[in-house]
Amino acid sequence: MERTLSIIKPDGVERGLIGEVIKRFEAAGIRIAAMKMLQLTKKEAEGFYAVHASKPFFNSLTDFMSSGPIVVMVLEGEDVIQKNRELMGATNYKEAKPGTIRADFATDIERNVVHGSDAPETAAKEIAYFFSNLEIVSR
Ligand code: UDP
Ligand code: MG
Repeated sequence: MERTLSIIKPDGVERGLIGEVIKRFEAAGIRIAAMKMLQLTKKEAEGFYAVHASKPFFNSLTDFMSSGPIVVMVLEGEDVIQKNRELMGATNYKEAKPGTIRADFATDIERNVVHGSDAPETAAKEIAYFFSNLEIVSR
């Protein structure tokens, strides 16, 4: 059993893709263990993406991530970190496999609809950024 953090980014929420994304998780046998909607401040977005602080896209990315509501979820299941990354597709939607969320819906390398943790250590850190243990329901 593994956990990962998923985010439906401001573009996904704005375009009405919440249900579409969740439908794909459930169809893949992934359980939702926690979920909420919120809007990050610029500072909170910078904290979440601190690992990218030195990248040229950091300022634009954190502007975008704080520009509107997001849906954050804890996903749970066997090998869920990798499974979620496969459902999401490559960071650059032009390189994402057909049928992935980003191939189907992303409009830009930045506006790529979803975030997913990339490893167990980052998953634990990212989950703790948004949720306390009391808010996570294992099934
Ligand atoms: N990003 C961007 N330009 C780039 C690379 C990334 O705007 O050249 C944005 C994009 O929204 C991406 C996020 O920064 O999802 C985090 O980048 P990362 O390399 O961690 O990609 P991910 O793990 O989201 O696939
Ligand atoms: Mg990443």
